[in-house]
Amino acid sequence: MGIKIDRDLCIGCGTCLGACGSGALELSGDGYAVVNDNCVMCGMCVDACPVGAITLEKDGGESDISAYHGVWVFAQQTEGKILPVAYELLGKGRELADALGVTLTAVCFGSNVQQPEKLIHAGADKVILADDPKLGFAMDLPYADLLTKLIRERKPEIVLYGATAFGRSMAPRVAATVKTGLTADCTILEIDGETKLLRQTRPAFGGNLMATIICPNTRPQMATVRPGVMPALEPDTSRTGEIERLTGVEIPDTAVTLLNTITEITGDNITDYDILVVGGKGVGAKKNMKYVKRLAELLGGNYGVSRPLIDAGWAEYKHQVGQTGCSVAPKLLLSLGVSGAIQHLAGIGGAQTIIAVNTDPDAPIFNVAHYAVVGDCIEFMQEMIAKLEAKQ
Ligand SMILES: Cc1cc2nc3c(=O)[nH]c(=O)nc-3n(C[C@H](O)[C@H](O)[C@H](O)COP(=O)(O)OP(=O)(O)OC[C@H]3O[C@@H](n4cnc5c(N)ncnc54)[C@H](O)[C@@H]3O)c2cc1C
Ligand code: SF4
Ligand code: SF4
Repeated sequence: MGIKIDRDLCIGCGTCLGACGSGALELSGDGYAVVNDNCVMCGMCVDACPVGAITLEKDGGESDISAYHGVWVFAQQTEGKILPVAYELLGKGRELADALGVTLTAVCFGSNVQQPEKLIHAGADKVILADDPKLGFAMDLPYADLLTKLIRERKPEIVLYGATAFGRSMAPRVAATVKTGLTADCTILEIDGETKLLRQTRPAFGGNLMATIICPNTRPQMATVRPGVMPALEPDTSRTGEIERLTGVEIPDTAVTLLNTITEITGDNITDYDILVVGGKGVGAKKNMKYVKRLAELLGGNYGVSRPLIDAGWAEYKHQVGQTGCSVAPKLLLSLGVSGAIQHLAGIGGAQTIIAVNTDPDAPIFNVAHYAVVGDCIEFMQEMIAKLEAKQ
């Protein structure tokens, strides 16, 4: 695969140099465009050339994209238990499959996988299950190898992965092997009504803008989504679907043998709570964090904070909500003195109900809040605490 410049056609106008965002094109001494090692094969220069001198030559990748159908979700499990992110992805996958009029398939590898029918209840039409003692530990190489074989054989048009540590490691291997694109940490996934392409939106340039990425030339279109970003559907136990158990699966031996994994119980994981009280700089001072913590305690939830509070040492990093902290999906999120910067919002998209308290009526947090309270968050917390304590 590479960029080819036809010297018989090139007129040395230099237009392509401006179109290349990677600084990969230059004019040679004899006045022809030449491509250097910076080329990332984005194809932007192809259309920019006024005389059609540039072509993007592809190799290996499957070129007949019309042969690809269906949406797949890679359903990760640990010790046989399917992770919540799999159900979250199926909620979004259902929406995408319905928009395309295709089936939604959950693909799950593991050993003694418990209740695979839950994947159907969560929205899948079908489950492809490889259940084998050799797949007990999630390991990149055998998992990627197996998934690659299935993708080549069955040709899904979209594959979604959870952006867990494992998903982040395995998905790029699959993408590189099947020669397709992969967009990491998407916060919005939707089908373009006209082209039917998957629009994959994610924060870019340090989170200062949102970039929408498409994968028009190769298949599958692949994306990862962080846990807690997409809401799962309410499980529907009346849903039925096929569970295909793969037999005689060949699992390659790899150079690495995983003997055991040790789970460190750190406790106090803010993503596990249905109610989250999130404090921002509007809380004013470290001493006021006692109100945030007390309110969370009285509501039976946990507390989170915006990043500046971590930087200021008001709370531990495990409580940070946002793009570089945790993505949370509580039933109720109480946002107190948080402005609603894009990097913060990237972590609260999964919250079912957001109540925001801010003194600034124009604060961006109000654009996503379901209930807005324009006022002082300290007074708000003190009053709520007093009322809840009075009820005890
Ligand atoms: C690459 C990158 C990654 C980032 N990742 C994250 C991340 O993961 N999470 C995150 O949170 N941020 C992140 N940020 C920082 C982000 O851009 C914002 O700076 C941050 O979210 C702002 O925090 P804040 O809303 O608490 O503070 P501010 O933006 O200062 O807002 C304080 C708000 O409190 C209100 N206020 C003031 N006094 C009161 C009062 N008494 N009562 C009620 N309201 C009051 C103000 O009107 C204001 O809206 C990141 C930034 C970058 C560049
Ligand atoms: S394909 Fe993209 S990176 Fe490569 S030369 Fe053209 S514009 Fe530059
Ligand atoms: S835009 Fe086309 S004609 Fe102009 S320098 Fe580039 S390759 Fe040559």
